[in-house]
Amino acid sequence: MKIIKNFIHNEYVDAVSGKTLDNFNPATGKVYSQMVRSGEADVQTAVASAEKAFPLWSTSSRNDRSDMLMQIGALLQKRVQVFAEAESIDQGKPVSLALKVDMARAVKNFEFFAHAILHEKENCSKLDGVGLNYSLRSPVGVAGLISPWNLPLYLLTWKVAPALAVGNTAICKPSELTPMTAYMFSQVLKDVGLPPGVCNIIFGLGSEAGAAIVKHPKIPIISFTGGTQTAESIIKDSAPHFKKLGLELGGKNPNIIFNDCDLSKTVDVSVKSSFNNQGEICLCGSRIFVQKEIYPKFIKDFIEKTEALIVGDPWDAQTFMGALVSKEHRDKVMSYINLAESEGGKLISGGKVPVSIKGTDFENGYFIEPTIIEAQNIQCRLLQEEVFGPVVTITQFTDEDEVISWANSTKYGLSASVWTQDITRAHSVAERIKSGTVWINSWMIRDLRVPFGGMKASGMGREGGSHSIDFYTELKNVFVSY
Ligand code: NAD
Repeated sequence: MKIIKNFIHNEYVDAVSGKTLDNFNPATGKVYSQMVRSGEADVQTAVASAEKAFPLWSTSSRNDRSDMLMQIGALLQKRVQVFAEAESIDQGKPVSLALKVDMARAVKNFEFFAHAILHEKENCSKLDGVGLNYSLRSPVGVAGLISPWNLPLYLLTWKVAPALAVGNTAICKPSELTPMTAYMFSQVLKDVGLPPGVCNIIFGLGSEAGAAIVKHPKIPIISFTGGTQTAESIIKDSAPHFKKLGLELGGKNPNIIFNDCDLSKTVDVSVKSSFNNQGEICLCGSRIFVQKEIYPKFIKDFIEKTEALIVGDPWDAQTFMGALVSKEHRDKVMSYINLAESEGGKLISGGKVPVSIKGTDFENGYFIEPTIIEAQNIQCRLLQEEVFGPVVTITQFTDEDEVISWANSTKYGLSASVWTQDITRAHSVAERIKSGTVWINSWMIRDLRVPFGGMKASGMGREGGSHSIDFYTELKNVFVSY
């Protein structure tokens, strides 16, 4: 069986513990590979490698780093099909989605940041008759990059590309649930000739390998994407070292639909924003609020389109939803569905294992039907807690003030969508919603030039954003007297 090893100083090495962890294919429920189970000692070796590589990499020219990033992007582009297939087996999503979303974006991450560093300018301000004040940006050092399982390569490369672009070296820790594409990515780095130590990849559990990165005194900057609860440990563990932290966390995003929306487009996009990637996208609109007059029509159309979605074989090009990432996660999502009735909600579609997988190769996979629950109790757990699966609630509202207070009622503040043809209302609602991103008449359209991140418990370090080149630099002022 394939064993995924650590990638340290451009070599593949076992974990010092000698232990391994099983890696499951969520669509079949079978173990198909293993990964090394790393800890403090492995992180220590990776830090030594990254420190050794730092002086040369951080002083290499922007052009050279930009060229290297472009080469990484180009080689990834050549391999997108095998990467997409591997990501599907690792994570459960359809191959077609992995190709269209994950791989396309992983390539783009390298292209974008390769260009971005060539267009960066430092600032200079003049104090008349006194002197000049200019600011300098420099790389921070060895960056710890910790990523989740839902968009494995997409999110990891969204950290690697800006971190390396500005001259940091890195230690990556992908999720233990989806290590495969990060492992394959290490081969890309080797093949393009990235100098040893510039990008190391460590595999293992978050509580062991991840925590060792966060606690290591010689890793001054951590970019973390994952759960809000995990972020609490990261804040505590990194506090003694005053690390620079970028935290991209959970969400419970409102999808607000006014009477005057373009209903057909709203329904189409809402189906995607609810169930794309099995609802396992931090930006999914998991709380749908629909204004009273169009509520019956919206529900009817939304159920019709949802029930037409194909769930099952991730290799079938027609499949919209694959398997959830793990058995534990499937059970967690099911437990929320089972809460519906006791919380005064009503299951109106889905909620079961799809019958279509019975008797197929996917019988033991972690599939759940796209699920819709009507619920009016804004404070219930289903409307307050992140489920992170193919489950949405639908709630009827009367007016703007009411829906804004409901939208802002959770501890999260990641993203929101607003559907209306009234341009004045669109802007005013966008301003009043406490979230890092608001999409008007759209969802998940991303411009890499603008900051990304969440408010409240959805993130920290949004200004500049932990996906920006500024985040991976230290800013210094230099004053020169005349
Ligand atoms: P998670 O917090 O369980 O794990 C994320 C990563 O952190 C993994 O690599 C894990 O091994 C590691 N980790 C776990 N414990 C750690 C510790 N104590 N110290 C250091 N590292 C540790 O999250 P997940 O289940 O992999 O991902 C799902 C969550 O991620 C959801 O809440 C989702 O909303 C969020 N997410 C947010 C964004 C965003 O951009 N805001 C994007 C994707 C996912």
